[in-house]
Amino acid sequence: MTKKQGNSTRCVHAGDTHDAATGGVMPAIHQSTTFAYPAMREKPEHIYTRESNPTRDAFERALTELEGGSRTLAFASGMAASTAVLELLTPGDHIIGPANVYGGSFNMLRVAGEGRFEVSYVHQNEGPPALRAAWRKNTRLVWMETPSNPLMHITDLKALSELCAANGALSCVDSTLATPLATRPLALGVDISMHSITKYIAGHSDVLGGTLTVSDSDLAGRLMQVRNRTGGVLAPLDSYLALRGLKTMELRVRRQFSNASRVAEELQAHGKVAQVHYPGLADHPQHALAGKQMDGFGAIVSFHLHGDENAPERLLNALELFTIAESLGGVESLAGFPPLMSHATMTPEARRAAGITGNLVRLSCGIEDAADLVTDLLQALEQV
Ligand SMILES: *Cc1c(COP(=O)(O)O)cnc(C)c1O
Repeated sequence: MTKKQGNSTRCVHAGDTHDAATGGVMPAIHQSTTFAYPAMREKPEHIYTRESNPTRDAFERALTELEGGSRTLAFASGMAASTAVLELLTPGDHIIGPANVYGGSFNMLRVAGEGRFEVSYVHQNEGPPALRAAWRKNTRLVWMETPSNPLMHITDLKALSELCAANGALSCVDSTLATPLATRPLALGVDISMHSITKYIAGHSDVLGGTLTVSDSDLAGRLMQVRNRTGGVLAPLDSYLALRGLKTMELRVRRQFSNASRVAEELQAHGKVAQVHYPGLADHPQHALAGKQMDGFGAIVSFHLHGDENAPERLLNALELFTIAESLGGVESLAGFPPLMSHATMTPEARRAAGITGNLVRLSCGIEDAADLVTDLLQALEQV
């Protein structure tokens, strides 16, 4: 039944999260860490909040439905969720990561590659040939990110996950920038869909969290064991806030995507802008793939400025509506300089290999009126 419903309906109703005990339209925030056994040999439904909690369950159920999987596990941050995936591997296994990747994920893979695993990076937007060239006998995980942060490269999830399945490796995609509305990684064959819910799902820059959603129940069980052992779970209050955010996600994200596309067009037409990276633009190298794999093109726009090396700083300091800040995906528009901010943990060589060089500015478009965002950018560009 849910398949026929539109995304807004699905966001509001996914997971059937009414409070069964009281009829509350929203679930209760169960702060209890432990739950009473009716008798010594009778286990309650929930035992201990590190393992499961009714409020977290409600959020997990809702996201599972949106992602089209069988189980979601919510973690205390996106990085806690990502790290849990590495815990599925055996020391000595080989991981293939994307050359252009979120700075924190690069850092995770870099440290994982220091004695524990073998790690290599490929330009995954180049498709299966690039992946095949990097493949080793012990390749067990391909870590993907699409659209990639900050350059908005698009990776062909169907093609790459097929290659993984045929060669005995897990495929996992960081789908944060796509949102659960624009891309359904599990339907394309990916084993694990990961989100930093800190971004679009919670959506208000006030919750830190991460999720892993899978279709396979055996994989869900293994991840459940990892989460139980490592303990980085999403807290009950944050689970509640994330669920509240998820209910309005379609409205927010649709506005954010359309704002980003307007901003990208205005920037592309501006004389002080050298290049705009946005998959909705016809000249983006993976524009056709994005059109096929995504419903909408995302709300991150990055661009290279003409001018000397201080041009990004002059632009950022001149912006009035866009706040200079890390993070993305919230209702307010943010601007950043990746080499000093979101991607500071990457080594300079890795940044060069990824193309995160020169006068690169990253914008996260919020839900403000598009005309106001454009006015702000144009006045700031005057001062570059
Ligand atoms: C923010 C982000 C992360 C990390 O998530 P946290 O919730 O900050 O731990 C991972 N991947 C992408 C693409 C992100 O934007």
